[in-house]
Amino acid sequence: MEYNITVIPGDGIGPEIVREAKKVLDKVGEVYGHTFHYTEVLMGGCSIDAYGVPLTEEALETARKSDSVLLGAVGGNVGNSRWYDVAPNLRPEAGLLAIRKGLGLFANIRPAYLYHELAGACPLKKEIIGDGFDMVIMRELTGGLYFGERYTKEIDGVMTAVDTLTYNENEIRRIAIKAFEIAMKRKKSVISVDKANVLDSSRLWRKVVEEVAKDYPEVKLTHMLVDNCAMQLVMNPGQFDVVLTENMFGDILSDEASMITGSIGMLSSASMNEGKFGLYEPSHGSAPDIAGKNIANPIATILSAAMMLRYSFDLDKEADAVEAAVQKVLSDGIRTVDIMSEGCTKVGTAEMGDAICARI
Ligand code: NAD
Repeated sequence: MEYNITVIPGDGIGPEIVREAKKVLDKVGEVYGHTFHYTEVLMGGCSIDAYGVPLTEEALETARKSDSVLLGAVGGNVGNSRWYDVAPNLRPEAGLLAIRKGLGLFANIRPAYLYHELAGACPLKKEIIGDGFDMVIMRELTGGLYFGERYTKEIDGVMTAVDTLTYNENEIRRIAIKAFEIAMKRKKSVISVDKANVLDSSRLWRKVVEEVAKDYPEVKLTHMLVDNCAMQLVMNPGQFDVVLTENMFGDILSDEASMITGSIGMLSSASMNEGKFGLYEPSHGSAPDIAGKNIANPIATILSAAMMLRYSFDLDKEADAVEAAVQKVLSDGIRTVDIMSEGCTKVGTAEMGDAICARI
């Protein structure tokens, strides 16, 4: 098969890590008989330098016309970069918001997987880690408290701030469908997280999720209150498969889940629209402190490319092969500096990409 991928290397370590992800995709293409066509566009600080804006309409249009988008990271050294001497909507990170909005990406998927080889970096005790954990947090990205009406004004002589949390049934239904679809590709369990004992929006959330669940009889649905979920993530992370939740709860829980894996250079993510289209990127930023030194860990970006294979192209076997190659590299003791431990072999960004390709 042939696929058109818009590639956005971005700033900082972006170009270095994206180069390795492309290398891995090309190796997958060679082994499994696919061709990936890449079109590179600018976004972030490099786009500001070239065009004066973090994302041009042309770049967005290129992304829109492709089958999916692979992104490195954008942004510079916030305290010390000319990119930040401008209005917030002209800064590098504004490109991220513009592309998510422009492409209608409402479902954010962040896996949290513990590699046994890196368990030393997990802040949880061994008896809690048990056999490890392998979950994805499915967060609604475009509704809820962050997008509701808000204002601050004096009411009866008292300064009062108001934020509103709004969801309609269609917004809930489309993210719930996404979660159940992804559960079908995994262990067929969805834990839907809400605050239905207090919030109306959560009660509607629960009702709609239950309706959607009827179309997926093979998937086990459980409801969990958000405060309990925050505790369960550090008490028994192994119980989670797909965690489905609204925007703000997902913002907090996805950070909690990613931190218990312990290694920022390993965390992939995807943001998807109603169909198969997605934007795939590592969860970390552009790491300007280590840019250009060939020491960044490309694995988060490579695993993001694996998510693209699985979720946008339905190439599950190929995605499995990339994930297995990452696993093999770790068990062979090959490490970039951020995940280095005693007795292992330290390699650079490009060598890590080569090592993964060699195992596909
Ligand atoms: P960061 O994630 O870039 O870096 C945090 C720390 O982790 C740094 O010490 C960095 O060296 C390290 N690190 C990150 N990725 C790594 C990798 N792949 N391998 C090895 N080490 C890695 O976060 P930050 O320093 O807060 O932000 C830097 C810039 O990135 C800022 O301009 C910020 O706005 C931007 N940012 C962009 C995105 C994005 O593009 N989606 C996300 C977060 C931050």
